[in-house]
Amino acid sequence: QSLGLAAAGRPGKTAKRPFPCHLCERSFIQRGDFLKVHMRTHTGEKPFSCSHCGRRFTRSGDLSSHMRTHTGEKPFSCQICGKSFSQSCNLLCHLRTHTGEKPFTCPTSGI
Ligand SMILES: [Zn+2]
Ligand SMILES: [Zn+2]
Ligand SMILES: [Zn+2]
Repeated sequence: QSLGLAAAGRPGKTAKRPFPCHLCERSFIQRGDFLKVHMRTHTGEKPFSCSHCGRRFTRSGDLSSHMRTHTGEKPFSCQICGKSFSQSCNLLCHLRTHTGEKPFTCPTSGI
């Protein structure tokens, strides 16, 4: 009987975000790139392609982090032991070897 209650009651939350996505419930403060980039999650469009291997990406940030797998650049370093990583996710996984924390398996490195 009370199942509908959870979805209701978000007063004014979208009022300051005038650019809604018409395909899902999300809305955005600026039209610009936010909505455009978000729409790609629906269209599957991947305008950024890797010049090395041709792999395609939705966001430029994804491409630049992928490029590091080719360049070998490792901008993320561990403050505890100094080991360097190409992906921030790999550093986070590595940090757990110091803390002993293991909440889930890293999808990239499998550690
Ligand atoms: Zn959407
Ligand atoms: Zn590549
Ligand atoms: Zn370390």
